Amino acid sequence: MEFSYLQPGRPAVFKDNFVTKVNECLASYKDGARGEIGLIGLPFSKTSISLSQASDAPKSIRACLSTFSTFSGERDQDYKNIQVLDFGDVQVHPTDMEESIERLRISVGEMLARNACDRYILLGGDHGVSYPSIRAFSEHYGEIGVIQWDAHHDVRNLEDGGRTNGTPFRSLIEGGHLKGENLVQIGIRDYANAKVYHDYTKEKGIIVYTMNDVEITGIVPIIKKELDRLSKVVDTIYLSVDMDVVDQTFAPGCPAIGPGGITSRELLTSISAAASHQKVKAMDIVEIDPSRDFRDVTSRLAAAAMLRFMFNH
Ligand code: CA
Repeated sequence: MEFSYLQPGRPAVFKDNFVTKVNECLASYKDGARGEIGLIGLPFSKTSISLSQASDAPKSIRACLSTFSTFSGERDQDYKNIQVLDFGDVQVHPTDMEESIERLRISVGEMLARNACDRYILLGGDHGVSYPSIRAFSEHYGEIGVIQWDAHHDVRNLEDGGRTNGTPFRSLIEGGHLKGENLVQIGIRDYANAKVYHDYTKEKGIIVYTMNDVEITGIVPIIKKELDRLSKVVDTIYLSVDMDVVDQTFAPGCPAIGPGGITSRELLTSISAAASHQKVKAMDIVEIDPSRDFRDVTSRLAAAAMLRFMFNH
């Protein structure tokens, strides 16, 4: 005899038959599969210089996808048929940091070698994961340009603590994987960095837009100008989104929260502006610690950022 209202083993989630939730677009990658978007989790935050459980963010961001539908009223467009191939999370080493970083590079490279998707989303993790990830992209695609949303330069010295979430862009530049002039930093905040690193960005030719520049020029014109410049000199553009670029009010789950950052709307409109460019192939989202978040505010913003990247025309 069947149950009337019970569904054994399944939670009682309301289903409107006319609504598709974004999580329903995800399918686990299988050999030979093709999709528009490839998704991978880089759950590693042991290299964070402050206490961080950002390794839990791939799980929390994926879960927040179920809070959004696939329909854009602004465009009168339903994106329910977009295929997102989920490659799962990388198994990192429990104690060996360099081994873990190498596993991240190998895994991103193996995903790209499948040529299964047009574009990719990578979920950190602390910002240290961007070093192996961007390195893997440069090994696969050739000359790479990076637009980095961040309150910090992330070019700290490696003598004090090895490779941390404060060093990824220094490692990329000094390893020859990324040219200084092909790195654009947006949203850099006062009293969050040191003079020696400010000088390092100038010495290496890194293009820096501070929060004051964002206020004066607007973030979308900055993105458009830099995409235009980068697209003439690089093969592929990678977006690296450190959520601490967002003001602490909108992103309370970041380990390095701070006032005076961009708004959630500025983040979303700038990602939309970047994602529609044909050379933009990837976006990572890093520095969300779900254990310190409030009502999944930060993970939910990250999921909204994914939508802007995925559903971009
Ligand atoms: Ca950062």
